[in-house]
Amino acid sequence: MGIHEDDIEKVRNDADIVAIVSQYVALKKTGGQNWSGLCPFHNEKTPSFSVSADKGFYYCFGCQQSGDVIRFVQELEGLDFPGAMEWLAPKVGIALRYTGGEAGGQKRAYRKKLTDVIDNAVDFYNDRLLTAPDAGQARGYLRSRGYDKEIVQQFRLGYSPDDWDQLAQHLGAPASDFEATGLGSNKGQRQQDFFRGRVMFPIFDANGAAVSFGGRQMPGGQPPKYLNTSETEVYKKSHLLYGLNWAKRDAVSSGEIIVCEGYTDVIGFFRAELPRAVATCGTALTEDHVKLMKRFAPKVVLAFDADGAGRSAADRFYEWEKRYEIEVFVADLPDGVDPGDLSATEEGREDLRAAVTGALPFLKYRIERALGSEDLSVPEGRAKAAEKAMALVAEHPNELLRDQYLMEVASRTRTDPDRLRPMLRRSPDPYEGRFGPEGGYQREFSAESVDNYDEGPAVPSLKFDRREAEVIKILIHRPADLEGRVFDFLFDAPGTRRAYEVVASGPDWVGRLDNEPEQVASLLRRLSLEPLEESDEGSSPLEDLGWVVGDVANRVLRDVLGQAAADREHYKAIQPLVQWTKLRTEELSDASQRVGAIDALLAWLQGHFVSEHGDQGGGDGVDA
Ligand SMILES: [Zn+2]
Repeated sequence: MGIHEDDIEKVRNDADIVAIVSQYVALKKTGGQNWSGLCPFHNEKTPSFSVSADKGFYYCFGCQQSGDVIRFVQELEGLDFPGAMEWLAPKVGIALRYTGGEAGGQKRAYRKKLTDVIDNAVDFYNDRLLTAPDAGQARGYLRSRGYDKEIVQQFRLGYSPDDWDQLAQHLGAPASDFEATGLGSNKGQRQQDFFRGRVMFPIFDANGAAVSFGGRQMPGGQPPKYLNTSETEVYKKSHLLYGLNWAKRDAVSSGEIIVCEGYTDVIGFFRAELPRAVATCGTALTEDHVKLMKRFAPKVVLAFDADGAGRSAADRFYEWEKRYEIEVFVADLPDGVDPGDLSATEEGREDLRAAVTGALPFLKYRIERALGSEDLSVPEGRAKAAEKAMALVAEHPNELLRDQYLMEVASRTRTDPDRLRPMLRRSPDPYEGRFGPEGGYQREFSAESVDNYDEGPAVPSLKFDRREAEVIKILIHRPADLEGRVFDFLFDAPGTRRAYEVVASGPDWVGRLDNEPEQVASLLRRLSLEPLEESDEGSSPLEDLGWVVGDVANRVLRDVLGQAAADREHYKAIQPLVQWTKLRTEELSDASQRVGAIDALLAWLQGHFVSEHGDQGGGDGVDA
């Protein structure tokens, strides 16, 4: 399933990249069609993030992030490619057409139909909470938690009336759709609501589509405390993190995401000015959750009692840290109070912020707990603490890290490290060597990643040449300066050669960047946005071209000499060429002679490369 090529084309061409980027970044015009501002992808104080209005792309000179408007929306909104297209299409004023595999398009349309029904339910419950007479107790309960109208609206909280079918009546959705959302069931001819007499916490997916609800019991109401619908086409608990739609932006900019246990905990962190908290929907943290979070932040701070989860949880965290290059930290929350309750007072909110700021790496946290549970002022306590802590250290798969912590435990418990070392005996590492070298495993996993997040094609590393790139830059900014003096044989490094071919392919090359390797596209975006340095003190604008031409000439000369080495006569015959080339390349560094030398060398090189591909009778003569 894909989106019609023409529609992609249209969105890319018509979307106003400056207007869209401006929703996230304050941009200033820097000259011509270029704008710049503080980069949304890395922390900086002076702007190095540039946007080209006419070419429709961005490039950051600080962190090298680059792309077009679709990529920008994907990154900032955490959307996959189709998601970003759907986000942009209304702004450009088109309705997307889907291609290939009707089934895929139909599935997407079906999901949309269900989330629209759920979205209506969000409005219905929210409206009931705010206005209905029978929601008085619910409003009182929320007030008692310190929730004001702003919080209710921000999190779209609601109230489900204690009745049989008010939601069903209101929605008027076909019976099969209603049941497929999990919001109710069909009893013969009658539809029946699933949630009755509960405070409603709507659950949205990362893209902000409503997918389900958690319903909280009213004081004195029917258990359980929290009620969830069963899984549906759009509600898969192992893939969903409550709050991610609101938390993702702060997670990206802070590089950190907080994981807690419930809806009210998430809201608590938002109240404590930590708007980057998410919660699982009543399941343990899964690998899919980790993959999802990794899209937004590399540091995961657990804000629940992670220690209680024991060895198997620890093993999973260590494996995920390694596999997804994330770091798992634990916030040391006061015992026995959850973040939701803490957030009710300013003092509690301060505690929450301190717990997150002072979060410790997972292993360190566990070791501290072990050491803290014994009396380190007496030998018996220290011996016991050492034993407990070493059992935890032994669980970690990384040998270097184990060794580091061993030293720390030794020093804290005043024990000889050599006495502790035997305690590191551990079962063979199940993860060692399972994954390839850097990057290799990431690609392997991106192939099956959650809702096919587009990580771009996997490309081998291309070689680029700095001077060749400078020539391409002039070609982009002031092509007239190089008129008639640029040929493909000047580009020797495969990456720069490819970049040249793209620019030479015609004035609309920008629209073709998508099909190019990322390194090539990124280079061209950078070159387009980099200011052209005005050459100083009368040096010719052709200086960079001169260097490149000289390099090529010398390389060709070496080849020619190499081929002639076995033939004494031939070798003698080309000595004038050697002399001639030497003189010309010397002239390249003299501004007054540069143009002449470039033209002479280019004429020779053209002849050489033409004859190389044509007849074999050496064309390496010298024009006197
Ligand atoms: Zn940046």
